[in-house]
Amino acid sequence: MYLNLAHWLKGTRALGPGKRLAIWVQGCCFDCTGCIAQSWRKRRRAKLIGPEELAKLDLDGVDGITISGGEPFLQAKPLAAYLKSAKETYPGLSVIIFTGFTRDDLTWSSALGLIEHVDLLITGPYIPEQNNGTGLRGSANQELIFLTDRLKPWAEEIVSGQRSVELYYRGNELLIVGMPEEKVLKSILGEIEELEK
Ligand code: SF4
Repeated sequence: MYLNLAHWLKGTRALGPGKRLAIWVQGCCFDCTGCIAQSWRKRRRAKLIGPEELAKLDLDGVDGITISGGEPFLQAKPLAAYLKSAKETYPGLSVIIFTGFTRDDLTWSSALGLIEHVDLLITGPYIPEQNNGTGLRGSANQELIFLTDRLKPWAEEIVSGQRSVELYYRGNELLIVGMPEEKVLKSILGEIEELEK
């Protein structure tokens, strides 16, 4: 059983409270207009890694894990196995998952198995017209579902706080971490275009 990952990054503060491990899965079954993860949407082989192998990653000093993509629930079974192992070593971790599915869609058994490990589920497709720059979601239609009390002390920040965005260069590729408002995204891309001239 393998995870097919687009990328992972330890230490982000743009995808939930505290310092987090971000995991982006490769492959999505949705086609949201304005998706900023275009290269991670394609259902192709990317970085294959076993759940137990990924769970060996040193997460000392990390407060939680945020999983996005791509569509995490297409890899529900290996993700559940990974989270189970990671939490055995680091029981204090909080878990956030972004999904294009709605809560009512997530009824199959491996999806329910994954949900058992999640503290905050952010559901629904991205709709650019509803991207208002606030809250831990790409657009205001997306539902923030607190499945446990673990992240409730940050509920206000999660529901209506200002978002932050981090930029990383991987070789000559730019990685945008977070959910930039449309105008912020345009300005980042504009600046980069200028720099590359
Ligand atoms: S669900 Fe997420 S990754 Fe998939 S198309 Fe929509 S925004 Fe992109």
